[in-house]
Amino acid sequence: MTETLTDTAPDLTPYGGVDADAAWADEVRRLARQRDAVLLAHNYQLPEIQEIADHTGDSLALSRIAAESEASTIVFCGVHFMAETAKILSPDKTVLIPDARAGCSLADSLTAEQLREWKAQHPGAVVVSYVNTTADVKAETDICCTSSNAVDVVASIPADQDVLFAPDQFLGAHVKRETGRENLHIWAGECHVHAGINGPELAERAAANPDADLFIHPECGCATSALYLAGEGTVPADKVKILSTGDMVKQARDTSAKSVLVATEVGMLHQLRKAAPEIDFAAVNDRASCRYMKMITPAALLRSLRDGVDEVHVDAETARRARASVERMIAIGQPGGGE
Ligand code: SF4
Repeated sequence: MTETLTDTAPDLTPYGGVDADAAWADEVRRLARQRDAVLLAHNYQLPEIQEIADHTGDSLALSRIAAESEASTIVFCGVHFMAETAKILSPDKTVLIPDARAGCSLADSLTAEQLREWKAQHPGAVVVSYVNTTADVKAETDICCTSSNAVDVVASIPADQDVLFAPDQFLGAHVKRETGRENLHIWAGECHVHAGINGPELAERAAANPDADLFIHPECGCATSALYLAGEGTVPADKVKILSTGDMVKQARDTSAKSVLVATEVGMLHQLRKAAPEIDFAAVNDRASCRYMKMITPAALLRSLRDGVDEVHVDAETARRARASVERMIAIGQPGGGE
């Protein structure tokens, strides 16, 4: 019998049937107290999940908050590699993700096995990986990076040493241009979810809104193509603000622009509109919504807290090696926030 895509494709239907009403919020808070859990939500989560969380932010900042928190359980409302990063930095805590099927197309574009084969082809090369990678890939990595510090991380490596940069090809191209480094080899991965934020669309939206500022979040796989285009001059440089999540919210409070185009996942609009309700924020591409992020539904969060699922495990040796690659990045400085 011929196997079809439908036979093999995983079921990614989100858990449903629960409204994010006041009773739900009360129950979530009660269960979180009972479990001694801190609730973390990534900026690209559904607004109701962001609202109920104790902390909202980007992946690395949330992982660090988790490590410093006194709570014994972390409920990470984000995608799987983010919850893994929290576990890597907090090995003694219980880490739950409300739906373990919430993956990441960018993280999935490089497996540890592929990375080992690539390393074998370039003996002696230093491996630099973006935070959007699995724990297994981080364990094979020499230095982790975010988009904020990718250039600094690569610049810290002796010029005569080959560098393997993975998995995001747009960020890799940006780093290669900035460092002028010929011995930087780039893995051809990308975030397929946001392939829609492309050059012509960005240029067209900017031309149609000449007074608007353009906020580009560099710490997201989906926006690294926009980062590259801004550097190429595809959009007017004086309007382009390349900002981390925190700086994006700060800039929203400070800007005199009446409208802002935002090139990143649409979930970010929620935090920006809260920060500056008088500004008209619009997505460069309103289809830029990550289906994996949106799998963390009110029903999934309730299930997670009620049943203590889905627990994230990273074996001790993988966690130790992965943690070393994150710590090397932090030692170089200014890690920014990851996606
Ligand atoms: S937006 Fe793209 S890079 Fe970010 S979690 Fe979703 S699939 Fe991964």
